[in-house]
Amino acid sequence: MTRDKKVLVVGGGGRCHAIVDALSRSPQVAKIWCAPGNAGIGLQAENVPLKDTDVAGLLKFAQEQGIDLTVVGPEAALSVGIVDAFRAAGLRIFGHTRAATRIESSKEFAKVLMDKYGIPTAAYRSFDGFEEALAYVNARPFPAVLKYDGLAAGKGVVIAANAAEAEAALRSMLLDETFGKGRVVVEDFLTGPEFSFMAFVDGERVYPMPLSQDHKRAFDGDRGPNTGGMGAYTGLPFITEEDRAFAQKEILEAAAKAMVAEGCPLSGVLYGGLMKTPDGVKVIEFNARFGDPETEVVLPLLESDIYDIFSAVAEGRPAAQPVWRNAVTLGVVLASKGYPGSYPKGFEIQGVEDVDARVYHMGTKLDGGRLLTNGGRVMMVVTEGADIRAAREKVYAELAKVRCDALFFRRDIAHWALDGKLLDGKALSGSIKEDLRERIGKLEVKYGRKPSLAVIIVGNNPASQVYVRNKVKTAIYLGMNSRLITMAEDVSEAALLEMIDHLNRDPELDGILVQLPLPKQINEARVIDAIAKEKDVDGFHPLNVADLWLGRPCTVPCTPKGILRLIDESGIDLQGKTAVVVGRSNIVGKPVAKLLLDRNATVIIAHSRTKDLKSVTLQADVLVVAVGKQNVVTGDMVKPGAVVIDVGMNRDAEGRLCGDVDYTEARLRASWITPVPGGVGPMTIAMLMENTVECFLARMDSK
Ligand code: NDP
Repeated sequence: MTRDKKVLVVGGGGRCHAIVDALSRSPQVAKIWCAPGNAGIGLQAENVPLKDTDVAGLLKFAQEQGIDLTVVGPEAALSVGIVDAFRAAGLRIFGHTRAATRIESSKEFAKVLMDKYGIPTAAYRSFDGFEEALAYVNARPFPAVLKYDGLAAGKGVVIAANAAEAEAALRSMLLDETFGKGRVVVEDFLTGPEFSFMAFVDGERVYPMPLSQDHKRAFDGDRGPNTGGMGAYTGLPFITEEDRAFAQKEILEAAAKAMVAEGCPLSGVLYGGLMKTPDGVKVIEFNARFGDPETEVVLPLLESDIYDIFSAVAEGRPAAQPVWRNAVTLGVVLASKGYPGSYPKGFEIQGVEDVDARVYHMGTKLDGGRLLTNGGRVMMVVTEGADIRAAREKVYAELAKVRCDALFFRRDIAHWALDGKLLDGKALSGSIKEDLRERIGKLEVKYGRKPSLAVIIVGNNPASQVYVRNKVKTAIYLGMNSRLITMAEDVSEAALLEMIDHLNRDPELDGILVQLPLPKQINEARVIDAIAKEKDVDGFHPLNVADLWLGRPCTVPCTPKGILRLIDESGIDLQGKTAVVVGRSNIVGKPVAKLLLDRNATVIIAHSRTKDLKSVTLQADVLVVAVGKQNVVTGDMVKPGAVVIDVGMNRDAEGRLCGDVDYTEARLRASWITPVPGGVGPMTIAMLMENTVECFLARMDSK
């Protein structure tokens, strides 16, 4: 194969940089020109100062240079008929004709096409009569999307939740003619994750590319205004192979066939903007070109020679199926502060040469060797990894090398795929309580009495009042007998001990709980020691604690027991895993560590003064934090993929509940995480009830 091909790429953004980069890997391509190109493209191709819509100029340039193949990036060039002009002049060009580009440029054309050929999309009808529109809307599921088909100053779209809202909107649009005389388009409301599916298409031949997902909003958490795209990645875990195969056959191949049947065959890239709805994959929109920023993450995975694919499509002959690397890519866009609104340009960007990843320029300019910002989206850094997590770790490490105060980027690209799933203690405790309730009903039938619990509260600490009320309420809900014993703030230790002694001897009582903390005149340790071991439903008694460590039967402390249940919810197999427990109290940290050891995990017990705590927590496959101090664990202290349990229940400066872990940052790295407040609280109560039932059974069976 000789390296003698000359290629012209039309366009200038990050997408064209990725195309130029792919072409530069071809062993056939000798030289690439790019019109107009940009500073980054200029490092891999020769920039040509021609506008992408200057068809006559581009044609003349291609003829003069003896270009073998022209590749068109942007839609603007296609819709002014660049492909038609080049073909008429006998030049080879990759891109759709003007007629075929209508699949993107005319929404009406695309909708009618999908309707006619049964391509799945949101059902859609347009109306100019009120009655007719209303009947249609009422016959379909709500919510309905109602769009005034004309200029309406951005107020022409109504998402109607029910028949009344729909009627009001239709009345306003069609009868009152609020926006003037016009038609109304009624579309079904679709929900589900969106993704992009691109393919090289030549007539009916479709060569699919890997799936990708774009992030349209400017800021983390999908907040802020819409942009051209702030990042993208491949390897979407929420799209199954079945979904992908369906989309290829029923959407991309069906659309290619439909376009042939309509007499305007495709000969370029077909981009499906798709959504995985509860009723299957559907089309949101078609584009007639490479997507941006999807191209920047998709093309780096191409192992085949892209020149072969482009030229086969341009000539209308079959190509070999492209081969894609079995890896995933992730790209983050660096944008000018202020984008997508107004922003100043011309700031120097330093450190790009140190970045060990693909850097695609979007809006940059060279000024005597200095690289300057020259657009809203400035550049995109793309990394590759065995999985999304690895690619994301790498991309943010590389981005840290780029120095420019005028730029910002999103920190949560691929969050759809990676966000820690919630360990929902509230939900889990709910189902545990339902099981207990059923069990307790049967126990009463079998033993002739219900489990019973006494809760003692001393004084009027408001937090304790709440905890105690929740515990008693839960006991009642489960059908247990319960007693709430209230003692005055200034009660003597002797009086409290006497009460406990009395309860210890009560043959009808199974569980005793003394709410901590206790007033100063009372020694907490003596009080806990006084509760009979077999009625210690909290599991705090020294004999229970001792038996736990010795591996003998005992009442397991509630909070640690609940924490283990939450960890099990994640599905992690603890055998051989590293667990780090931050916190070393006798009732939380230490017993959790013991329970984890019993599951054959390697356990490290750390605390708030552990030296270089970060290097310890970064080893944790399972991280339990029970220190009682806000932000003891920040996001960067979490090992990617870890299961994180935040036991802490603190109040921040504004009095809001907060945990020990910086949840917002940590959830971007954890695979599973408890929300704030942790959901550990409801689990503690559920385990308290379970312990009471177990104490009851032990007493009954020993009789
Ligand atoms: P403690 O205050 O008892 O323990 C926290 C820290 O106190 C330890 O990490 C350690 O500090 C020190 N400490 C306590 N006991 C000992 C000991 N015996 N030996 C040495 N040091 C000790 O808090 P908890 O463990 O009870 O609770 C931690 C957090 O979890 C709190 O925010 C609490 O509110 C919350 N929590 C929530 C529950 C729920 O159900 N939601 C239940 C229980 C607790 P250091 O690390 O500095 O060495």
